[in-house]
Amino acid sequence: MSTDRTDHRLAIVGAGVMGTNIAALAVGHGVPVVLVDIADDVLAAARKTISRKLRHAQLMGSLPTDRPQGELVTSRSLRDVADATTVIEAVPELSATKAEVLTEVSRTVRPGTVLISNTSCIPVDEMAAWVARPDELVGVHFMNPAYLITMVEIIRGSGTSDPTMEAVTVLLTALGRKGLVVRDAPGFVINRLLHPLINSAAMLVADGVASVEVVDGLLEGCLGHSTGPLRTADLIGIDNLVDSLNVLYERTGDERCRPCDLMLEKVKEGSLGRKSGRGFYDYDRGV
Ligand code: NAD
Repeated sequence: MSTDRTDHRLAIVGAGVMGTNIAALAVGHGVPVVLVDIADDVLAAARKTISRKLRHAQLMGSLPTDRPQGELVTSRSLRDVADATTVIEAVPELSATKAEVLTEVSRTVRPGTVLISNTSCIPVDEMAAWVARPDELVGVHFMNPAYLITMVEIIRGSGTSDPTMEAVTVLLTALGRKGLVVRDAPGFVINRLLHPLINSAAMLVADGVASVEVVDGLLEGCLGHSTGPLRTADLIGIDNLVDSLNVLYERTGDERCRPCDLMLEKVKEGSLGRKSGRGFYDYDRGV
């Protein structure tokens, strides 16, 4: 682990919904970030998104005002994670993709570099098989938007070491986040509860029991859910939800986790939620 606990240099792999969220959080807390993705146009869009998120975070008063922003560097090369003190993997919820990225990252970084996966559902112990030093791997499930929600779910794998748990706590404190630690399991706590709820909400709409607005309105008005499950689905990304539900279904056999036809259709037609401008609701692109 880095001996200087204030010297945080973050690399984030994957510049999508969560990579840009976590980059905005880190840069806004004065931590330099190298953000890696596979295509220049994705990285160009990510830089704009991060600027917008930083303005939003400032408006919401959720960033410290006593320090300059961290530097943001974007790259298409995984080799550029080599100098990081912590690498956060935020690529799609597909085992093959995460395996490829984590294997390469693990080969590239120095021993002592914390490897965080922002996994939604894939257990940390499965990912441990893909890295050289499983003791340095830990799951941190940042919430969306990461720069507004201060609580994170920390997943300790069976091989995660005490020094890794300490290092991740130091980093999260520097980022103004608090974490609660859970044992490793498919979907952990949050998504074992949230994803079947969203899937069930979509099924109620498909069955004609209630409209999208009524399902969300009831969950908001009666149960105090902050946005409703279907607006949450749009924020997450319906493609990511389907991938995550597949991970849950394959590992638990729980029928409530089999992605419903309505969500599969939305993914097929490219209605992915906020990121595509349309999901269960319509959005102005870029807002
Ligand atoms: P996303 O699809 O928005 O972004 C993924 C990014 O990874 C894309 O930009 C893609 O180009 C990039 N990528 C793919 N293969 C790559 C590779 N080999 N090297 C570098 N970059 C690569 O996905 P997301 O919603 O940001 O999800 C990322 C992770 O975070 C997933 O594990 C997801 O389950 C988890 N997560 C998502 C949310 C959410 O609200 N969307 C919340 C918490 C956790």
